[in-house]
Amino acid sequence: MKLILASNNAHKLSEMKAILAPYFDEIVSMGEAGIEHETVEDGKTFMENAVKKAKELAELSGCCAIADDSGLCVDALAGGPGVFSARFAGVHGDDKANNALLLKELEGEHDRGAHYTCAIALAWPDGRLLTAEDYLYGEIAYDERGTNGFGYDPLFLLKELGLRTAELAPEEKNRISHRGKALRKLVEELKAQETPAAE
Ligand code: IMP
Repeated sequence: MKLILASNNAHKLSEMKAILAPYFDEIVSMGEAGIEHETVEDGKTFMENAVKKAKELAELSGCCAIADDSGLCVDALAGGPGVFSARFAGVHGDDKANNALLLKELEGEHDRGAHYTCAIALAWPDGRLLTAEDYLYGEIAYDERGTNGFGYDPLFLLKELGLRTAELAPEEKNRISHRGKALRKLVEELKAQETPAAE
């Protein structure tokens, strides 16, 4: 069966395609499917937004649709920016401004604990739904490093590795990331339900 990804974020698309390719005949982005649609992301949780996006796209396209909603939760900011991660500094997707604001908000703060959250929803046009959520724990560094990944990756420090997520190769990030782990959980659910994607 064809799967449509409810995203036009190139980095997310390649991360998702790498993991889901074995389970679907064809995986295309909304753009590739010729669908123009923007879901109003007004959920209070990542999962609410992911489910809303996947359901709307499945209804609209008549195909299986997958959506993720993800973000950064910083302990010293009471879990913020959370569902507002993409537009923390005001403009949606302005990674540079978001990172600058995060460093500013954490000036003088010693508690640097943070985690990424990823919620994923897979919706069928007949109303079936599968969901999964996972996390990646780390710290917010004091400066930016690395050029891989996207978003807050230059600031997100993996303590045990002494590396930022922006310093990891894409396959390495997929192996440990919130999105990679949530996607693999979802695949396990797919298998457990004996719901072959090709059905
Ligand atoms: P979404 O597109 O609504 O899910 O917003 C996700 C936002 O959270 C992105 O724009 C990034 O700011 C942040 N984010 C989520 N996952 C990651 C990641 O793996 N690395 C860096 N930033 C991320």
